[in-house]
Amino acid sequence: MRIIVAGGAGFIGLHLAKKLADDGNEVIVVDNLSTGSTRNVEILKQAGITVIQHDICEPLSFKTAQLDAIFNLACPASPVDFGPKAIEILSVCSKGVFNLLELARKHSARFLQASTSECYGDPKVNPQPESYWGNVNPIGLRSCYDEGKRFAEALTMAYHRKYNLPTHLARIFNTYGPNMRNDDGRVLPNFISQAFKNQPLTVYGDGTQTRSFCYVDDLVDGLIKLMLSDYNEPVNIGNPDEITILQLAREVIDLTGSTSEIKFLPLPADDPKLRRPDITLAKKILNWQPTTDRITGIKSTIKYFREILG
Ligand code: UDP
Repeated sequence: MRIIVAGGAGFIGLHLAKKLADDGNEVIVVDNLSTGSTRNVEILKQAGITVIQHDICEPLSFKTAQLDAIFNLACPASPVDFGPKAIEILSVCSKGVFNLLELARKHSARFLQASTSECYGDPKVNPQPESYWGNVNPIGLRSCYDEGKRFAEALTMAYHRKYNLPTHLARIFNTYGPNMRNDDGRVLPNFISQAFKNQPLTVYGDGTQTRSFCYVDDLVDGLIKLMLSDYNEPVNIGNPDEITILQLAREVIDLTGSTSEIKFLPLPADDPKLRRPDITLAKKILNWQPTTDRITGIKSTIKYFREILG
């Protein structure tokens, strides 16, 4: 298949593009390098993947007739980006998704939109099934991402309903693994980098908030299965293994052998208190579930950060 991965120079996009290429597909990455890295671009090129530097908020066209599938992972996704990149995020989730859907329509290509557990906001239901409509602050600091991704879901469903386009919506939960940016601002890169330097691990709030972390290889496997399925409504792709952030900090200290202590800092606004995917649907329709346990996954992530940080 000839496949476009928009946002393929980012963390998940890189792993997805490489897996698709390894499986024998022709892969074209489209990325404006807003948060994607030139280091990832080099890795992609070495894997024989074409990289086009382009902002999907501008229309794209491909002269070549055959285009089989488009994965859209283009969007800054770390909470530290939600302030400075708010307008960019809202644009890429609206204009950007619109442009890719138009491209998919012209080529009758399959389309998968990377959606998010943030659609559930600060959930009042735990775990979160796809049928839960969420508890989202429409004007808060996270709203650019939450509402942007919710709009992207609505737009994708509208294209599916109006044009019968084969579209898919993956609600991605917290994902981690090698090739994350160490300065990405997210919890695992922060904790691992701090542990290496024996600096205090910065736990926001009292650390009782929970997350459920999925290893990137498992996630990529789920995304590909969803793209190849006939299911058009949202599907949670994540690992239901839930942990408090304080427990996670202790695990990272243990696994790195660090002498770091824990420092408590204020909790950012609207930070969800609980997050855990209900993956009953993914198990049923995709025959998918994660297979990498957290300790194995964190060890491999630590190994990666050791290699790049020295
Ligand atoms: N967090 C933390 N310390 C950090 C970074 C994040 O305690 O140095 C917390 C954050 O407040 C949230 C959780 O870890 O409760 C996950 O944060 P992340 O930014 O990784 O992603 P989110 O799940 O919030 O999108």
